[in-house]
Order: sequence, then structure tokens, then C-alpha cells
Amino acid sequence: MRTLLAGGRVIDPSQGIDRPADLLIVNGKVEAVLQPGEDAASDERLDVTGLTVCPGFIDIHVHLREPGFEYKEDIESGSAAAAAGGFTRICCMPNTNPAIDTASVCRHIIERAAGVGKAHVHPIGAATRGMEGERLTEINDLKSAGAVAISDDAFPIQNARTMRSVMQYCAMLNMPLMTHNEEKELTTGGSMNEGAAATVLGLAGMPPAAEDIAVARNIMLAAITGCRLHLLHISTAGTVELLRNAKEKGLAVTGEACPHHWALTDEACLGFNTDAKMNPPLRTTEDCEAIMRGLADGTIDCISTDHAPHAPHEKEVEFDAAPFGILGLETAVGLAITHLVAPGRMTLSTLVARFTTEPSRILGLSAGTLRPGAAADITVLDTQAAWQVDRAAVRSRSSNTPFHGATLKGRAAFTMVNGVRIAPEPAT
Ligand SMILES: [Zn+2]
Ligand SMILES: [Zn+2]
Repeated sequence: MRTLLAGGRVIDPSQGIDRPADLLIVNGKVEAVLQPGEDAASDERLDVTGLTVCPGFIDIHVHLREPGFEYKEDIESGSAAAAAGGFTRICCMPNTNPAIDTASVCRHIIERAAGVGKAHVHPIGAATRGMEGERLTEINDLKSAGAVAISDDAFPIQNARTMRSVMQYCAMLNMPLMTHNEEKELTTGGSMNEGAAATVLGLAGMPPAAEDIAVARNIMLAAITGCRLHLLHISTAGTVELLRNAKEKGLAVTGEACPHHWALTDEACLGFNTDAKMNPPLRTTEDCEAIMRGLADGTIDCISTDHAPHAPHEKEVEFDAAPFGILGLETAVGLAITHLVAPGRMTLSTLVARFTTEPSRILGLSAGTLRPGAAADITVLDTQAAWQVDRAAVRSRSSNTPFHGATLKGRAAFTMVNGVRIAPEPAT
């Protein structure tokens, strides 16, 4: 079976390609990037004139909620949301029930996701049992069962000695450790960013320093253990600066940012809008600017979504009582093109790297490339499409997005996984 994606602009940062070209796929694998019109012998020809053909996008920070919380999301609905948003590969966090803290849960997720087949799914193993921050998991078993990284994400390890032990094991086993950076002594009781908006609402705040302090500690511990440290969902200008300094020192530290942390400020919480409640919280215009600069200059390596579905009955409560988290998979590409590429902050090619080669490199995945022989995981972008986010039209089982009604420029036209077209229809 020879499939030709013809007439598009092909961008593959792994090979430095950004030009008009045709992409030939043979039996589910990339065969070649061809000159336009070069091959006429394909069985199937997809006209992608006006569209951009990229390696499949990768999101290394997703909450799929299965097992245990399938009413919010399950592997099937989460994979469908990923495909609709332009992602062909996602990594799922371990705060399920049971947690991904044993090899058997890890294997279960891989099997379920393979059965669904809408996106590749890699589990992330917990660092401590039940993510309770005390007893370490069997990191080697998790790795053998297919976990690609270790993280307690939502339950950041507070004890520095425990964190050091986790890092020592991760270093020994060459497993990346992904940290949610939060000094809990400073955030207990807080439900949004500490600042003017929190004062107006009369809500307890979470200061930016709570993130910066934890980042500084984790970078220092990474330096003495040799652990590959990845900073999850960077929300403060301070973290961007700490990451920049760590990289200048040559430390193996990487970082990610989520679209909501540059597209919104804490003012989105005004009116007690629980769809704007997430952790780390929305910050200030200065923080948004620092994050966008960090993404443009490569200090922040990649874009992730922290896709965190919650059911309406959980979010439709007092702000204090609502859970943290918003949807991310179906709006990320539009928010990135709208805020980063359209205003000229970065080229489309750099953006594609933030979604493909960079996440692949951070977790050591063999993905994010259109090299001959690679699996034909493809994201095709329509960078000109103007569309409106509609919470009623999302593929996710939940609808907690603060972007409902927003007009975005750019979206995924479709994805392919192993050469099979997955999500052709638009989300609205
Ligand atoms: Zn987190
Ligand atoms: Zn998360």
C-alpha cells in the first residue's frame, strides 16, 4: 500500500526540512520526502494543498483517568481527543486508581491503548507507592513494563531526602524524572495565583515562589545525583530563569510549558470561574511573556498540555472546592499557532520542533521524525483555519475548558498513526 500526501508543505525539524514536498508512505512507514509531483505510482493520493505535513505531535503530559475515574475520561475518549487535537502519541500520568505504580497497571494501560489504536500511549510510572511521597516504587519493573518516565506529578515529593533517593534510582536506571514543582508549605489552602485577582476574589493565593523554590531544590538535587530532570508545566518567570541557568551550567534539565500558561492570566479566574482553576495556577502577563520568550529561545524545550479532565458536577462548585485542571489536547495546537506563530514570536518550523523532536528527545522515544523507515505517524496542520472552541464539540468525556468561545487560528486537519488516517473530521 503506497499512500502519497501530495501538494503540502513538509516540515520535519529532525532533518531540517521545511519546503513544498510530497510525503510517500509505504505499508505504514515513511518511505521518502519527495519533490512535488515526483511519484505517480501511489495507490492512494491525499491532496494536502495548503496544508502542512509534520511528524506526529507528541504530548508528554496527559491525564487519561483510566483506571479508576472513567467518568471523567478513559483511554478511548482521551485517545480520540488526542487525535482530534493533532497528537499521535501521548504519555499518561500515574494518578489513576490504582496508580501506575506497578508493572501490571502499566501493562494494562499499554494493552488497552493498543486496542483503541487512535494514538500511541506511553504510561509514566509513579515515583512513590500510591504517590504518597514515602516508599519508592520498583522503578526498574516499571521501566521493563514500558513506562517511559517517572513522576508523582500532582503529588510533588516534599521530602528532599526521598526526592534525592528517587533521583539516584532514576539516574542509575537512566529514567527521566518529571517533577511538579511546588513547595506545599507555601500553597496549602491556596486555589489560585497569589496576587491582585485573588485579593479581589477573597481567595487564598499560591505564590510564584512556591514553584521557584521547588524548582531550585530539584535542580540542585539533579546536579548531585546526575538524574535527568524534566520540569513539568512551567508557570513562572522565575522558573524560566532557573532553567536557563541550569542549562548554562550543562545540567541535564529540560522543561515544558502548557498553552494556558501563556494564553491566560489569573484574571481568567474572576467571576469564580472554576474552568480557569489549575495547578500550577494561571499567573501574570509578565510570566506569560517569559514563558513565550523561553519557548522561542529554546530554554523551554517542549509544549505539553497537562490535559486534566474533570466532570461538570466536580467543577460546578465553589472555587475553593473545585478540583484543579483543564482540558488541553484539543486546543493546544490552535493556542500555539495563535499566540506563538501568528504574532511572529517563532517560526512554524520551531513550533513543530516543540511538539515533535523535543518531546521525543526528552523521553528518549524513537518518534517525532519523517526519516525513511520511521512509523508513519503524521500530523497535518491547517495553519490558516479560523475556528471557535466549543465545549459541546470536544471529543473528551469532560468539557472543562476556559477557552470555550475563543476564536483560534490553526488546527490539526488530520492525523495518521502507522499510516492509517485517524481523525479526519473537524472538532466544530
Ligand atoms: Zn502537575
Ligand atoms: Zn499534570
